[in-house]
Amino acid sequence: MKALTFQYNIPQYLLTGLLDRQWPGVLFTRLAPVRMREIPEPELPGDEWVKIRPRISGLCGSDIAIVACHESLTMQPFASNPFVMGHEVCGDIVQAGPAVSGFEPGDRVTVMPMLGCAPRGIEEPCVYCASGRPQLCVNTTMGALPPGLFVGATAGVPGFLSEMGIAHVSQLYKVPDGVSDEAACLTDPFSNGLHMAFQNPIEPGETLMVIGCGVMGLATIAALKAVHPDARVLAVEIDPFHSERALGLGAEAVIKPPMDKEFYRKVADLTDAKVFTPLLTQPLLIGGVDRVFDTVGSTETIDMSLRVLTNAGWYNMLGIGEPKKIDWTPVWLKELTLRGVYGYQVEEQAPGREHDFAVALRLHAEGKVDLSDMVTHVFKLDEWPRALEVALHKGKYRAVKIAFRP
Ligand SMILES: [Zn+2]
Ligand SMILES: [Zn+2]
Repeated sequence: MKALTFQYNIPQYLLTGLLDRQWPGVLFTRLAPVRMREIPEPELPGDEWVKIRPRISGLCGSDIAIVACHESLTMQPFASNPFVMGHEVCGDIVQAGPAVSGFEPGDRVTVMPMLGCAPRGIEEPCVYCASGRPQLCVNTTMGALPPGLFVGATAGVPGFLSEMGIAHVSQLYKVPDGVSDEAACLTDPFSNGLHMAFQNPIEPGETLMVIGCGVMGLATIAALKAVHPDARVLAVEIDPFHSERALGLGAEAVIKPPMDKEFYRKVADLTDAKVFTPLLTQPLLIGGVDRVFDTVGSTETIDMSLRVLTNAGWYNMLGIGEPKKIDWTPVWLKELTLRGVYGYQVEEQAPGREHDFAVALRLHAEGKVDLSDMVTHVFKLDEWPRALEVALHKGKYRAVKIAFRP
C-alpha cells in the first residue's frame, strides 16, 4: 500500500532542517526523510486492535514540522522510526481483533491518537492514564509498543496518511450519523481547543485572545465560543482570509501585527486598559486581556502576550516556535500563570465527565458547531508534493486544513 513515511538519520534531519528555508525544493529530494513509499499493509499487533481504512486523513501542523525537520530534537527519545505519518482520521473499521467489543467492521470511527498505558498493554496504568489523561502518560517508551507519544509518530503504530491504519479499541470513537467525515477528521485539533476551554477557569465576561488563526487558532476560537458563549474573543492574525474565518467563528475583532505601539493601543482600546511606554522596550498594558492562547509560540508572540495580559492573567502555550530572548519581567510584575497545553483528556469540568473527543463529536451531532468547511483542500496520496506546496503556503492558496482521501 501507499504510505507517507518518515525514515531518517540525525545528520540528514539537521541538514534538511537547515536547507529548507533557502531551498524548499529539498523537501522533494531523496535527502528529505519524508517520502511517499510503497509498504506492506499493517498487521493487528494484538487481539484488542482494529484495522481502519481511512476515508479522509488530515495533515497536522505537527506533521508539517516533521516533514520540514523543524520538530525539536528534545522529542527524539519519545519517538521511533521509520514510521507512517498521520493521526487525524475518519475511517471505516475493516477488521476487528477477537477481544474487541463495542466496535465491528463497518463502523465509521475517529481515533484518539495518544499511545498511553492501555494500547501499550500495561496492566497497572500510570497515575495519568488512570485519571483519563493519557497525553501525560509516563510510560510512552515502555510496554508492548516501541517508543512513541501518538499514532503516526512511532514505528509501532502506523498512521493514517496511508491506505490502511490500525488503532487500539481504547482509542476509538464512533462518528455519529449526520457528522461529516471532514468534521470527524478535525476532532484532534478541535479537542485540543476544548481541552484549553475546560482547563482555564474562565469567568463570565472575560476577554480572551487567540494568537494565530490557522487550524489550531480557528479550532480554539470555535471551542472557546462553544464552551463559554459569553466570553469575548479577540484574534491576532495577519492573513486576510484567515482573519475572515476567525470572525465567522465568533471572534469579536481581529488585530493585525506588527506588534508596535499601534498594536498595543488597539488592544488597550478594546479592553479599557492603560498603556505604559518604557523608554527602550515595547509598551506594557495594565488591565488588558484575561487569557492568551498562543498557537504560534514565537519570540514576538510570547513577548507580546506577556505585555497585553492583565494582572494575574494566563498565558497558554499551544504552538511552539523557536523563541530566542524573552523579557520575562511581566511574568513577576503581573503574577502571570504560564500553562502548556498538549492534546486532550477526560475533562472533570465537562458535562458527564466526558473526554474532549466525545464533547467534540457531540457538539457536531447537536449542530452547535460545524467545522467541516475548515477542510479546504483534499488530495489523493499520489498528489503529495502538491499537497505539501499548499500546506507550506496556506495564505496564498486560501487553505486552512489540508486532507487526503486515499
Ligand atoms: Zn493533529
Ligand atoms: Zn500511562
